Amino acid sequence: MIIIDGSEGEGGGQIVRNSCALSLVTGQPFRIINTRGKREKPGLMRQHVTAIEAACAIGGATCEGVAVGASDFSFTPGRVAPGEYHFAVGTAGSTGLVLQTVLMPLLLAGGPSRLVLEGGTHNMLAPPFDFVAKAFAPVMRRMGAGIEMRLVRHGFYPRGGGRIEVDLIPGALAPIHCLDRGALLSVAGTALFAALPHGIAERELATARKLLPDWPERSFAVRELPDAQGPGNALLLEAVFEHATEIVTGFGRLGVSAEALAKTAAHRMAGFLESRAFAGPYLADQLLLPFAIAEGGSFTTVKPSQHARTAADVIARFTGQRWGFEQQPDGCHLVRRVSGDAVRDR
Ligand code: AMP
Repeated sequence: MIIIDGSEGEGGGQIVRNSCALSLVTGQPFRIINTRGKREKPGLMRQHVTAIEAACAIGGATCEGVAVGASDFSFTPGRVAPGEYHFAVGTAGSTGLVLQTVLMPLLLAGGPSRLVLEGGTHNMLAPPFDFVAKAFAPVMRRMGAGIEMRLVRHGFYPRGGGRIEVDLIPGALAPIHCLDRGALLSVAGTALFAALPHGIAERELATARKLLPDWPERSFAVRELPDAQGPGNALLLEAVFEHATEIVTGFGRLGVSAEALAKTAAHRMAGFLESRAFAGPYLADQLLLPFAIAEGGSFTTVKPSQHARTAADVIARFTGQRWGFEQQPDGCHLVRRVSGDAVRDR
């Protein structure tokens, strides 16, 4: 049994999700103590419980101690069964994070799967639908996985009620090298809002326009969603390169002005555009798991986050593989496997 201290490294929910995925892929049971030990409210939250339950459902796994607030739980994997699954995060918990938990095991399973996930689609501190669909999924396709996803209904915190559908076709994941993102092809800034004053979206776009002066006027747009999908607001800044797409998101919330949210998002996007990196900070931590499962490959990224380093630590615990981050002369970091054993037992 692998025992992980969930307060180490980044100390959040990603340790839980990556452990479930790696356990299902490698067949090794694990126990996490001090779960989410570095978060303000430690222990499992509703969305983590849903993610673990989803892992149990697809993987014939059993778990002990899994409940909202629990800090110590264990997970014993079974055999992953592809098929049709429907998971609803009871609160506005992120559908993208539930997907992170079950995606890799299902992509290695013996047949296609269809997932219906209900909850939040644009949550703070989680990958929004657009990011998963446009930044993450294309890399999976390059590795050989079949993944198509649709946003049926938006869901924002605290109301939730969003719905995404994902079709998966397994493929032998091949190690790939993503060093060069290629030329910038197009950019877009979209202010999404539902059941909120139109002026919020306009102010976000005005701020983003000012801070991204090279972006053409026509690349900015307001997108109003039906009131029933709100209240909610997110600013999505998208840069499409030949071989990669980056999406920086600002999430609207009470107490943060439209200008402040847009300023942070635009600065982040400007920073990424200045670098030559293939992956932004979020994509980097999310790519480590599939790359480790493919047992190799490499990609360039910006300064590695604590999430990325912690993902590498959890991967090492389950697989023996060490993934390193080496700064390059151009300031990018090269992420690649530096040592370790093969991963899969099936
Ligand atoms: P944790 O904080 O441990 O629950 O993990 C959060 C996960 O959500 C990480 O995999 C992050 O890469 C991802 N994430 C958080 N914010 C964003 C964002 N704005 N865009 C894309 N992914 C995000």
